[in-house]
Amino acid sequence: MRKRTALVIGAGIAGLATAYNLTRHGYLVTVLERRSVIGGLARSLKVNGQPLEVYYHFICGGDHALLALIDELGLGERLHWAPARTAYFVDGHLYPLTSPWDLLRFRPLSLRERIRLGQLILYCRRTTHWEHLEHLTAHKWLLQRLGPHAYNIVWKSLLDLKFGKYGELISAPWVWHRLHRVTRSRSNVLRPEQMGFLDGGTQVLLEALADRIEAAGGRISLNTEVTGLLTRHGRAVGVRTGDADIGADVIVAATQIPDLVRLLPEEAAGYRAQLAAINFIGIVCVMLKMSRNLTDFFWVNSNDRRIPCNGFIEYSNLNPSPQFGGSAIVYFPFYSEVSAPLFSAPDEEIVTPLIDSLSLINPELSAEMIEQVVVTRDPYGQAICPPHFSRQVPAIATPIPNLYLLDSTQLYPSDRCLSGMIGLADRLAAMLR
Ligand SMILES: Cc1cc2nc3c(=O)[nH]c(=O)nc-3n(C[C@H](O)[C@H](O)[C@H](O)COP(=O)(O)OP(=O)(O)OC[C@H]3O[C@@H](n4cnc5c(N)ncnc54)[C@H](O)[C@@H]3O)c2cc1C
Repeated sequence: MRKRTALVIGAGIAGLATAYNLTRHGYLVTVLERRSVIGGLARSLKVNGQPLEVYYHFICGGDHALLALIDELGLGERLHWAPARTAYFVDGHLYPLTSPWDLLRFRPLSLRERIRLGQLILYCRRTTHWEHLEHLTAHKWLLQRLGPHAYNIVWKSLLDLKFGKYGELISAPWVWHRLHRVTRSRSNVLRPEQMGFLDGGTQVLLEALADRIEAAGGRISLNTEVTGLLTRHGRAVGVRTGDADIGADVIVAATQIPDLVRLLPEEAAGYRAQLAAINFIGIVCVMLKMSRNLTDFFWVNSNDRRIPCNGFIEYSNLNPSPQFGGSAIVYFPFYSEVSAPLFSAPDEEIVTPLIDSLSLINPELSAEMIEQVVVTRDPYGQAICPPHFSRQVPAIATPIPNLYLLDSTQLYPSDRCLSGMIGLADRLAAMLR
């Protein structure tokens, strides 16, 4: 009997997990990836011969689909958990915010405001329903819950610097879920959050998936950009790449939504308009490899206008891997609209003011301690989720028969995450069995 064929566009985690699942269901699978490497937003690059993730990735206790896959691929021994110490940098001071005692000592807020913030965190940890928040912006919800002063100190700059002009439009459920996911990573509220990581980073998981796909007869074709979707009588029948038309029974777009929009044919104008109504914000991330620590914390949020981004992630404080040779690895994410000057600014225009500002955080830091600088940009770092976003979220089965879409927005109100995408790939495999 002829094997069913599947084309998967994109070798990010969603595409690879889909290809892995479908090869096990007997499909002959080809993954088409325009980059020269697998991994998408979770890709690594080589720094001094060692793979380093271009963006930080940590694992939460509730990331069930990811944890199950790690186990299934025999990578359990490479999974480690560590306390994730967090802090807030406000007006020149670094305040630990790891435990409830830290919160009680958080001087930028009044005692009453600290208690209200603690109540909000507890509420988000305990509540599993979010639908009643759907009509609210995070701005309005947090202002109501915390009052204007505490909102301005803790949330305003985080939302403004991350989402720019969309800062006040982000939905309350999106913020609820971020707090929910992270605070659920504590065994109890008095303990610090425990975050997981893979020894060798996400690359280890991606390579294990790629090996399994290829061992089962699947193919991963790098440097292969899909330039169009082929349809016949309204059904998807294949894709066009630079040099060939390739047919298949099933086509899975495991891309970001705007990438699929570009591939859709004229006759899918309605669907295209539905997808194009979802806005994204780009990311420019500066990774510094430094000969000494910047702080003792894993995650630092900032509300100090002199620091040009809304915080940083000192990844080596979670995962002090020998692979980093004793150096500190720190990521500084800058979110920016692709059309804004920041997104296409020369690297030094972003990096120089950033490095200059770091002595505010650690006065002992000097430019000589910076061993390596890597700047990475992606145009679709984060979808913008306004109130009632659940009405906009596209389904996995598209209106074009035989074409399926996997995209982070389908996780709403959850934020984009590896585990969520693996879960979506599992749902798709169940649909195509
Ligand atoms: C700064 C940052 C930090 C993050 N931190 C975490 C974290 O700590 N924990 C966590 O779980 N998640 C985290 N994430 C989220 C996680 O990285 C994403 O949810 C996940 O990688 C998305 O995978 P994906 O396969 O859906 O999409 P992508 O990774 O975007 O993959 C899509 C792939 O499709 C390819 N493609 C697109 N169009 C075409 C085409 N026409 N032809 C061929 N190929 C094409 C792209 O090149 C890309 O490789 C983070 C993301 C960012 C940006």
